[in-house]
Amino acid sequence: MSSVAKVYDAVVIGAGPGGYVAAIRLGQLGKKTLIIDRDADRLGGVCLNEGCIPSKALIRAAALYRRLQDGVGDLGIEIHGEVSFDPRRLQQYKQGVIDRLRTGIGQLLRRNKVEFLAGSARLTGAKTLQVEGPEGAVEVSADAIVVATGSSPIQLPFLPWSPRVIDSTAALNLAEVPPRVAVIGGGVIGLEIGTYFLNLGSELTVVEMLPQLLPGTDPDLVRVVARRLKQRGAAVHLNARALGAETGEAGVSLRFARKDGSEETVEVDYVLVAVGRRANSAGLGLEKLGVRLGDDGRIQVDDQQRSSLPTVFAIGDVVPGAWLAHKASKEGVVAAEVIAGMKTVADWKTIPGAIFTDPEVAIAGIGEVEAKERGIAVKVGKFPFAGSGRALVAGETDGFVKVIAAADDDRLLGVGIVGAEASDLIS
Ligand code: FAD
Repeated sequence: MSSVAKVYDAVVIGAGPGGYVAAIRLGQLGKKTLIIDRDADRLGGVCLNEGCIPSKALIRAAALYRRLQDGVGDLGIEIHGEVSFDPRRLQQYKQGVIDRLRTGIGQLLRRNKVEFLAGSARLTGAKTLQVEGPEGAVEVSADAIVVATGSSPIQLPFLPWSPRVIDSTAALNLAEVPPRVAVIGGGVIGLEIGTYFLNLGSELTVVEMLPQLLPGTDPDLVRVVARRLKQRGAAVHLNARALGAETGEAGVSLRFARKDGSEETVEVDYVLVAVGRRANSAGLGLEKLGVRLGDDGRIQVDDQQRSSLPTVFAIGDVVPGAWLAHKASKEGVVAAEVIAGMKTVADWKTIPGAIFTDPEVAIAGIGEVEAKERGIAVKVGKFPFAGSGRALVAGETDGFVKVIAAADDDRLLGVGIVGAEASDLIS
């Protein structure tokens, strides 16, 4: 039975970095706002609970462990006895960070008078929603609805999830160091988590269908990451297609095919499938209301985040663009301000992206390849980390900064960095 419920100025579906930022901004602008997520434990969405934050906590710890393993004697630091690693302690640390940040988001929502409702939401009209929660169905209405339902990992039909064939969420929750890990997909998520395991001492195999790791990223930058992976003993198979996996008592046999048609099987403890993500747009009642979706299921929006139905806005992973938390948050601010009657439009030209591999990669603006594809004449400047006193002091000389400028007037068009702390330097 559903109860007739409350009326709001705005309702936000999804409490990820898009949704909670939109809701807080709406609250700041004096709008009576409700935010809905499946349960209170989901505040922060994928980014906080199973994405950016947990992965970065683990990656950072593993890199430090690796550094200590490799030796810091050249800095005069001597370690007497073995450097060991306790994966359960690290999991507790990670969870502690998540819990703290989640509490902070709850406080921010309350401080800005945003109400929270737990449940799964579905649009029933241009201004109405039904929310299935622990206390049954609730009807909600609002002048504006912001869809911020994010994305989920893509499952390969021939590699269904199992205790041994896992997605990124399960990989980040493993309280063990598996001796052997295979990653299907050498994109950002696959390589970040793969490098985490590699730094902890796992044997790593990467199977990537395309001819390059980190597809879409400047090959110049990627080369440095690929070289480091090789030095660390990772087996990287490019132009290779996963065929299937058989799970036995000792682990998983993963089969893949190379470009020339030959097949190979590797025995591993876990297969991480990281072949991309899909927008969570199904089951929301959008098509019925005439909200336009792209072929990939992402909601089509204008430059103010408005969908083809004027009362419905959409932000974050559920709309086109980079799969990045800060992009979702920025879109959340745009949607909130437009709902409040402001004329905000975002400028997406310089949105940075960071990849937490070893070493890190960070980019902003356009790359050399993209400039060529778009017929823009550019000048390229490169400066190696090996020439930087700061990098030498840190003992991190691998990598470089690459600057792309317009050939005619030296306008800065893009920057790419590969090297230690690239994610901090890009700003
Ligand atoms: P999400 O964070 O996906 O949140 C959507 C929320 O909507 C979820 O909580 C979900 O429960 C809820 N929801 C969905 N459907 C409904 C419904 N019908 N009713 C109610 N609630 C619903 N990005 C970065 O910028 N930097 C990084 O370092 C980074 N690392 C990542 C590492 C991993 C392993 C992964 C998986 C992602 C990473 N990302 C990173 C990407 C980032 O997490 C996403 O871009 C970001 O979370 C998208 O935010 P969002 O608000 O669109 O949606």
